[in-house]
Amino acid sequence: MSLLDRLQERIAIEGPIPVADYMAECLLNPEFGYYTTRDPLGADGDFTTAPEISQMFGELVGLSLAQGWLDQDRPARFTLAELGPGRGTLMADLLRATRGVPGFHDAAEILLVEASPALRTRQEITLAEFQPQWVSEVSELPKQPLFLIANEFFDALPIRQFIRDGDSWRERLVGIVEGQLTFGAGPSAPQASLSHRLEDTRDGDLVEICGPALPILDEIATRISAHGGAALIVDYGDWRSLGDTFQALVGHKMTDPLMTPGAADLTAHVDFEALALAARHAGCAHTRLTPQGVFLERLGITQRAQTLAKGMTGGKVENLVAAHRRLTHPEEMGNLFKVLGLFPESANPPPGLDR
Ligand code: SAH
Repeated sequence: MSLLDRLQERIAIEGPIPVADYMAECLLNPEFGYYTTRDPLGADGDFTTAPEISQMFGELVGLSLAQGWLDQDRPARFTLAELGPGRGTLMADLLRATRGVPGFHDAAEILLVEASPALRTRQEITLAEFQPQWVSEVSELPKQPLFLIANEFFDALPIRQFIRDGDSWRERLVGIVEGQLTFGAGPSAPQASLSHRLEDTRDGDLVEICGPALPILDEIATRISAHGGAALIVDYGDWRSLGDTFQALVGHKMTDPLMTPGAADLTAHVDFEALALAARHAGCAHTRLTPQGVFLERLGITQRAQTLAKGMTGGKVENLVAAHRRLTHPEEMGNLFKVLGLFPESANPPPGLDR
């Protein structure tokens, strides 16, 4: 039996299912899920990410968080956490770059939030010397100062899609037509959580909401506002999402999200306004949403690249220049990816970002 068979069976019994249910099954089904069964990253995988492109990304994120720790009077014990650490590359670069910050490593309790057994194994190998611990849920993070990074984590959380119909909404559903998974729409109904979107949408417009993101934000923001710390959330998306951003990647190419359930990376753009509102609701301050290229330039990525280039020749220098461009250039990841920082109301925002 394949995941497609399972989904067809479920839909035959229950009727069409929300996009969020489809996405959750495809990504995290214990037996067939995309993340649960494989390591999808890198050149021979389906997609690549900023830390896999260059060590500079994790290094600069590390320095921003460590400077935040220094600015907040070096709490003697704190959680250094990453959500969805992939291959562990970002955390390894972050830890290498912060070795020179006196006391930072000794005070850090390294905790990784990871749902995929396959990627946990990979992280265990990459990070063996640092002896991290794993948890499955953000709610399991200790109640103490929290310095956290999440890169391309929120885009993997299941979204629901709604199509405007007068002052009501029809939910986009996944059903079966002639044996094939097909998108359709449910009955028209009012949606209290979308009342603010009646201002900026018209009939037929599609909006997305990511339910699981809000309790996660609440857990993080509550710790930061009560105990101190900072969070850097890096992802593609914008302040407010409009339109269908549900997408599938296989072998670095876009495909139909319904074509190969369980075998494609499924993501949606992050609606940063919803995250910022959840943070504020929990008493935590947030920064302005900042393009990744601007954030990295402010933290000195160009100087870092120049320093690294000194020890290199030929093809290595070209690769470094290409990586710098990919991470920062507005036509590459520089503008599509954004950074939102969370910090305590009484503290300064993490370096690279502003209020
Ligand atoms: N941050 C890494 C990997 C991004 S891929 C990088 O930048 O390279 C998304 C990561 O989030 C993977 O590690 C995946 O297994 C994890 N993930 C996805 N959904 C999750 C969930 N609900 N809970 C915990 N981890 C999750």
